[in-house]
Amino acid sequence: MNNLTPPFPPETVWDVEGGKKAGIYTWFKEITEELPDGWVLSGKKKMLMLGGYSYLGLNKRPEINQASIDSIQKYGTGMSGSRFLAGTTEIHTRLEEKIAALHQKEGAIVYTSGYLANISSLACLLRKRDYIICDKQNHASMIDGARYSSAKLVRYPHNDLDRLQEILRNIPDSSRKLVIIDAIFSMSGKVADVPKIISLCKKYNARLMVDECHSMYVLGENGGGITEYYNINPDDIDIIMATLSKSIPASGGYIVSSKKMINYLRHESRGFIYSIALSTPMAATAIKALEIFQVERKTLVSKLHDNTLFFKDKLSNLGVPFGNSATSIVPILVGDAMKAAFAAKACQENGLFIHAVFPPVVPTGKAILRASVTAAHKKKDLSQAATTISHILAELEHMETPPLTGFNLR
Ligand code: PMP
Repeated sequence: MNNLTPPFPPETVWDVEGGKKAGIYTWFKEITEELPDGWVLSGKKKMLMLGGYSYLGLNKRPEINQASIDSIQKYGTGMSGSRFLAGTTEIHTRLEEKIAALHQKEGAIVYTSGYLANISSLACLLRKRDYIICDKQNHASMIDGARYSSAKLVRYPHNDLDRLQEILRNIPDSSRKLVIIDAIFSMSGKVADVPKIISLCKKYNARLMVDECHSMYVLGENGGGITEYYNINPDDIDIIMATLSKSIPASGGYIVSSKKMINYLRHESRGFIYSIALSTPMAATAIKALEIFQVERKTLVSKLHDNTLFFKDKLSNLGVPFGNSATSIVPILVGDAMKAAFAAKACQENGLFIHAVFPPVVPTGKAILRASVTAAHKKKDLSQAATTISHILAELEHMETPPLTGFNLR
């Protein structure tokens, strides 16, 4: 079996054994309990979660837990079919109505994850002679969705809107054009120039789909996302996609759009029709979290923004370099991938739950520690975390490139 050539499965780009041998394999770290104030237990070790997505700190709120438990008492834990068949409950319908109203759009469709929402919608939206145009740093789920589509995929360099314009100008009028964009780039926290992209789409008769996984519930004073941030009319974005797995502490992803578009997706999108419905405990969780968001959005978002500013200020004062992010994603610049791997390991040993991000996810030579602040964090903990990170980076500064041969990071 092992002697087969070519090897099956093919070799992974991750040198797992090498990384483990070098002591810098930090992935799949187990969490054993979620604790208050942004802490978790990993085994018996208490760690500050700085690598999570629960931006508003809503995970484990008792009312939300209760809503999920209540739904289990009523419906049980399993779904007995896809939404198309036996899997649509009153809870799903209510959730979709709520989401559509929140985004001021005519309709919403909920999938079992954000990844599925992207791939499954993009796969069916266009035909052979059409085009999907996409920033090179868009999330993998958008790129994968575009690859499932029979349309041609054209990618432009990150944020290069002149190139986007040139691409749009050269596509024949007889083809449909769909520009897909992350409102906030998930690794850098940078905000896309959505108003400019809207004006290009209007000029060249292209449609626009915006992924709001990291912007909705976070950007703007009320957490209204990219439309609030730039004061955009929601009608100027044809399709908005977001997740129920970050600020909303459930799982699932959704698309909001016109009634006609949602009706199309409900009948054409294979990941919706041929896969199980979102579980009712998750749908009930999402509804309760949305209700809480509606009442407390100003307070929650202001806490998040306040914590983020505080953490960024602390890092600045300590001379720790970080990227220019519009949100609570804080990309701490390390540069060398191997050093970033060591930094992540040292952070974890010092009680900070944080990971390194390497090329190709970020450009070569620009490896980062990706920290994210939440509304649940306490300032004293953020302050201590910033100090720990600065000490770790200072120590690595004087380190020779680590003597490793086994862990080949690009
Ligand atoms: N889009 C973006 C920009 C994301 O960051 C993610 C998740 N990290 C997704 C889509 C997929 O969402 P989910 O985790 O709900 O599958």
